[in-house]
Amino acid sequence: MKETVAFGGISAEQGMKNTGWTAVPGTDVKFPVTVINGEKEGKTVLITSAIHGCEYPSIEAVFQLAESLNPGEISGQIVIINPVNVDAFINRRPYIVPSDGKNLNRLFPPDPNGTTGDKMAWVLAEEFIKKVDFHIDTHGGDIPETQPSYVYYPGISEDEDALRISEEAAKYVIHAKYMIRSQATNHAYTYSGIMGVPSLELELGECTKWSVDEVEDYKENILNVLKFLKVYPGDPILPSEDQRAKRITEGVYLDADYSGRWYPLVGRDDKVKKGQKIGYIKDLFGNVLIEYFAEFDAEVLMVVATLAIKKGDPVIAYGR
Ligand SMILES: [Zn+2]
Repeated sequence: MKETVAFGGISAEQGMKNTGWTAVPGTDVKFPVTVINGEKEGKTVLITSAIHGCEYPSIEAVFQLAESLNPGEISGQIVIINPVNVDAFINRRPYIVPSDGKNLNRLFPPDPNGTTGDKMAWVLAEEFIKKVDFHIDTHGGDIPETQPSYVYYPGISEDEDALRISEEAAKYVIHAKYMIRSQATNHAYTYSGIMGVPSLELELGECTKWSVDEVEDYKENILNVLKFLKVYPGDPILPSEDQRAKRITEGVYLDADYSGRWYPLVGRDDKVKKGQKIGYIKDLFGNVLIEYFAEFDAEVLMVVATLAIKKGDPVIAYGR
C-alpha cells in the first residue's frame, strides 16, 4: 500500500485530501493543487483545467470535483490543478498566459529556460505529468469559439500501450459528438502520450457560456473515465458502436493570416464539401484579404464567432 504521496510539494496521507500551492520557479506563478490520496490502491490520475483560462464548463466541473471527491471512495490518487492558468482565469484572457502572451497548450516539450509559460509547462511536466498513470486535460471552446463537444486522444507516441489505452478511454467520454485522434505533439496531453502517460483532452462548452447542464455533463464525462480507470467506484458506461462519438482521424486547424474582420460561412454543426468557401477576412475598409476553402469533405469542429480576428489566432477547424 502507498502511504503519503506528494505532487508539486503538496502531500497527502493515505485516505486524506490536501490542498496547496506549487510555485513555478523563476516566475510569480503558483498552481492551486488538490491531492486526493485514496484509501485503496489504484492508479494515479492527473486532472488539469484552465490551461486556457476561460473555458468555463470544464473549470467549474473540475472545481466541483476537487471539492466533492472523497478519499474514501477513491482507489489510487487524483491530483487536480485548477486553474492552471490563474492569471488568465481571473483576468478573463482567452488562449494565452497573460504575462508572455504564449499559448500554454503549445509549449510542449517544455523549455525550462524560456518565459513564464515555458516554465509553467516545465513544472507541469516534471512535477506532475511524469509522475502519474493517466492525464485528463479539460478544455472547451474559448471565449471566441463555437463548437460541439468532443474528445481528443494522442495519436503520436513510441509507447503503443499509451496510445491504445488513451483511445480506449476516449470511448468512455459519453457526452461527445466526435472522438479525434490528434497528430499534434506540442499540447499538454499529447506530450503526456509521448512520455508514455495515456491521456485525453476533453472539449465541452463554448463562447464564455456555462450552465448547470454543461457542468453536469462534464462531470459525468470525467467520472466515467475515472470508473474506466477503476479509480472511482461503479461500472463505467460504454456506449454501443452506433451511439458512440464519431471517429475523426484527420483535421485542419486554420489560423488567421491577417488581423481584421472575420466572416465565417459555416456553423459549428455543419458539414463542408471539398472546395467549399468556408470563410474570409476583410480589412477595416472592406477589402477581402483572404478566403478559406475546405480541402476535403469534412465535419466542422470549431468556428470562431467574433467579428474581430487577430493574425495567428484560430478561425476554423474541420476534420474527417
Ligand atoms: Zn482550451
